[in-house]
Amino acid sequence: MGPESMQGLKRTHECGNLSRNEVDSEVVVMGWVDSRRDHGGLVFVDLRDRSGIVQVVFSPDNRPAFAKAEALRSEYVVAVSGTVRVRPEGTENEKLETGEIEVVAREVRILNRARTPVFYIEDGIEVDENLRLRFRYLDLRRPEMQRALELRHRAAKLIRDFLDSQGFWEIETPVLTRSTPEGARDFLVPSRLNPGKFYALPQSPQLFKQLLMVSGIERYFQIVRCFRDEDLRADRQPEFTQVDLEMSFVESEDVMALVEALIAAVCREAGGFEPQIPFPRITYDEAMDRFGTDKPDLRYGMELGDVSDIAGGCGFKVFRAAVETEGQVRGIRVPGCAGYSRKELDDLTRFAMRFGAKGLAYFLYTGEGLKSPITKFFTAGELGTLAERLEAAPGDLLLFVADAPEVVAAALAALRREMAERLGMIDHSRFEFVWVHKFPLLEFDREERRYVAVHHPFTAPVEEDVDLLRSDPGRVRARAYDLVLNGVEIGGGSIRIHRRDVQELMFAVIGLEPDEARGKFGFMLDAFEYGAPPHGGFAVGFDRLVMLLAGKQTIRDVIAFPKTQSGSDLMTDAPGTVAPQQLEELAVRVVRKAPGGEPGR
Ligand code: ASP
Repeated sequence: MGPESMQGLKRTHECGNLSRNEVDSEVVVMGWVDSRRDHGGLVFVDLRDRSGIVQVVFSPDNRPAFAKAEALRSEYVVAVSGTVRVRPEGTENEKLETGEIEVVAREVRILNRARTPVFYIEDGIEVDENLRLRFRYLDLRRPEMQRALELRHRAAKLIRDFLDSQGFWEIETPVLTRSTPEGARDFLVPSRLNPGKFYALPQSPQLFKQLLMVSGIERYFQIVRCFRDEDLRADRQPEFTQVDLEMSFVESEDVMALVEALIAAVCREAGGFEPQIPFPRITYDEAMDRFGTDKPDLRYGMELGDVSDIAGGCGFKVFRAAVETEGQVRGIRVPGCAGYSRKELDDLTRFAMRFGAKGLAYFLYTGEGLKSPITKFFTAGELGTLAERLEAAPGDLLLFVADAPEVVAAALAALRREMAERLGMIDHSRFEFVWVHKFPLLEFDREERRYVAVHHPFTAPVEEDVDLLRSDPGRVRARAYDLVLNGVEIGGGSIRIHRRDVQELMFAVIGLEPDEARGKFGFMLDAFEYGAPPHGGFAVGFDRLVMLLAGKQTIRDVIAFPKTQSGSDLMTDAPGTVAPQQLEELAVRVVRKAPGGEPGR
């Protein structure tokens, strides 16, 4: 028998919402067969829909329904009409929301059959993520994925309502546009109507939201997709969602207060907890000093200690050489790991090397003092200082990295995170927000041999520092602020440049020739001459925020159809090839690269 029609049946209730209130009522429920059990002459079916599960009982007294029930398989789509009753005593199921009742089936219709799913439709499955992504429609049928999507929806709605209450208007900005520099590569779209020309997908709506301020919109927001063609090593997606906002006539304090209130509302109403506001603040310098990163996780200690002063004069060549070449020697103390074996220490060294360190100096703090193959290069006094600077005690393992400051910071920050994770030092029930502010405006890119914007080139310098832009750009401070939650950057923003002369100077400092600047951003520079108000804004990484609220480890678990690390969609098989005619229409030719990287034929 083929699938049946729904005709004449109207769904009256959702499975998970049935309760004692409906006892003795006639109901119609529809959903998927979660499981079927034959037991004591009866057939029991757990019927699942988005709201949850309810048990349906089929008794042999009702021949036609019973016969059909015997044919049901997992994930068949069915409609059931019947009567709700209290379950016989002793058969209640406490694990089920609806465990006190059941539906006694009068009629069942098989609306559609299903092949055996490739994995179980339940929470906590252990299957290869690629399989989940290929059969994403099945993966999203699992309750935990549905809860994550619901949370995402709830958070988006709250954000809209909150920002509306604060006078923000949601305004859409173009997806086919010019490049918006956020430091990544652009995705390009060839224009058929303008052969040889390309749109860029926006890395963010940065330019448009600033232009909306020039338009007098005053308060703008958008829950918007952004596109960045980056290497996807970390937990990133080529397209991701931001809560993007911009305000006129504000200072940093105003934007930060608004963002705090917004985040607190989302945590309260979608996350079920109330964060303390205002969030603590630390400067960029302090974050780098204490944690080696501008995204510090404040849920655990193990702060960095600096021993560069004594390292410069010690007998250990590696330490001395680092200090002599403008480097540093810093370390962390790992509690209770003085018993680490040679192999464990070698592993840690290799780990540090992945972050650029050339090696790792370690000391085991035993009952007899610091033990290490390099102890002999240090005086007793120096060893004492090493331990003291890290506030170490017997039982601890001391790890030091000697290198350029950025390498020391990167390696120690990674070690700190790794060891906290391994030692179970992270309280996963905590939410630690922190503002990082007082960033430098620019940093010197050694490879490109020029200054680059730490945030983006529209970030305003601190007013007193504007003159330094000419004389000492590296010392200019930015009016920028990032919001970090549990070591993850969940947003960033700044007060913007709103004067043409300052913006032109900024472009010049980052090595953009005046012609090039006018070519790329002429419209923006012109707009600044028509009454641009002071303004500033922020963007929240919505995927990351929802991930943290949902207690997930990856943003892929809160995005309905994410891509893999290599940027492909395993379900639709995007990106795909296109027909030669399409390329011709677009005036585009594909050049295949030979393995060596040279264009082949
Ligand atoms: N456009 C910035 C970003 O995407 C955020 C901002 O400055 O508002 O990171």
